Amino acid sequence: MGFVKGLKCRECGQTYPKEPVHVCSFCFGPLEVEYDYDGIKKTLTRDVIASRDKNMWRYKELLPLDGEPTVGIDVGFTPLIRAHNLEKVLGVDELYIKNDSVNHPTWSFKDRVVSAALSKAKEFGFKTVACATTGNLGNSVAAQAVQAGLESYIFMPANLEQGKTVGTLVYGPRVIGIEGNYDGVNRLCSEIAGKYDWAFANINVRPYYAEGSKTYGHEIVEQLGWKAPRHIVVPMASGSLILKIFKAIKEFKMFGFIPDAGTRLYGAQASGSAPISTAVKNGWDAIRPVKPDTIAQSIAIGNPADGYHAIKAILESGGWAEDVTDDELVEGIELLASTEGIFTETAGGVTVAVAKKLIEQGRIPRNELTVISITGNGLKTQEAVLGRLPKPRLIKARLEDFDALMEEETEGMLASTKEK
Ligand SMILES: *Cc1c(COP(=O)(O)O)cnc(C)c1O
Ligand SMILES: [Zn+2]
Repeated sequence: MGFVKGLKCRECGQTYPKEPVHVCSFCFGPLEVEYDYDGIKKTLTRDVIASRDKNMWRYKELLPLDGEPTVGIDVGFTPLIRAHNLEKVLGVDELYIKNDSVNHPTWSFKDRVVSAALSKAKEFGFKTVACATTGNLGNSVAAQAVQAGLESYIFMPANLEQGKTVGTLVYGPRVIGIEGNYDGVNRLCSEIAGKYDWAFANINVRPYYAEGSKTYGHEIVEQLGWKAPRHIVVPMASGSLILKIFKAIKEFKMFGFIPDAGTRLYGAQASGSAPISTAVKNGWDAIRPVKPDTIAQSIAIGNPADGYHAIKAILESGGWAEDVTDDELVEGIELLASTEGIFTETAGGVTVAVAKKLIEQGRIPRNELTVISITGNGLKTQEAVLGRLPKPRLIKARLEDFDALMEEETEGMLASTKEK
């Protein structure tokens, strides 16, 4: 291993040694991990990858460690499923779901970035890890810190969903709830990171953290039989995941693992927090921050750190961005559950509903291979659908009672056929 050269500013190109830093001190641009791609190309082949264990570290040469991974070695390699039923409903020919709602250990794609961040934090010698979270990141940092034997501090908006809150507290980290939205939490954490000697997953070790997202893209390509999709729809919070999927596909193309499929990236946001999709749709090249107001809390970031580069990547790929209302995202959750038997969280509802919209708009052609990115689990955001679901019928544990219920249903069905 050891193909990491250092860090490089995405804006001005200034290089930095491998350290826990994330912004360029010259231009304040974001820092990106730089690899010795020539060296990797000499050792890594499709066969080598295919021979390895089914987790995200099968692509370890393209991850930002100097040594072997020590945290989250079972993360990743989630199913890519062919969505035959959803294809019929949406009227498309070839649709896949990349399902990180069943990622190990905390049921979201954040397990990938945290595995990379905490493995790197251990290499740096940190004893304490922390994060500013919209929900899923806190779940994963808390869980994987336990596994790694690290102390953890989780900073989150005080009003997060119960599933996200319980799903952090249960691992026993220090949890600090903060009044207001994520953008305030993030600002506070930047100040704390400057003062305390902690590895903040998405602040001072962010360049390393973000590289973990590439494996979501690497896996899609490998699972399609070493082929990049023509279209991919991705939920956006900070805009990092969509950027890294693009980078992953470019890496595999550069190594000659796949032909150029001209993959188009489509960003998905909730209309109540849509600074990136709004910029794309209006032709703005900069982000105009917004104040989030949506039930899709996991992707509710009003001032996205990678927003500017996400806009550029989307346009460079020939893709687009869209957003949907909270009602539409709930319908998206229900559509995926009722067609594919996958219960996703609010962010997944956004992605499904945006995909549907883009297909209806003709932006995603009906006859081309499309992947929908499902990044989180519905059991964590039950509030979104709870009030809309029927109550279970209640009977005594007696066969007569069940027979009566079946009779009632048969009569109901007969009555409704007569009406027609
Ligand atoms: C964090 C998150 C995202 C988006 O992450 P970014 O990389 O910040 O754009 C998408 N889906 C879910 C479920 C998330 O928790
Ligand atoms: Zn710079």
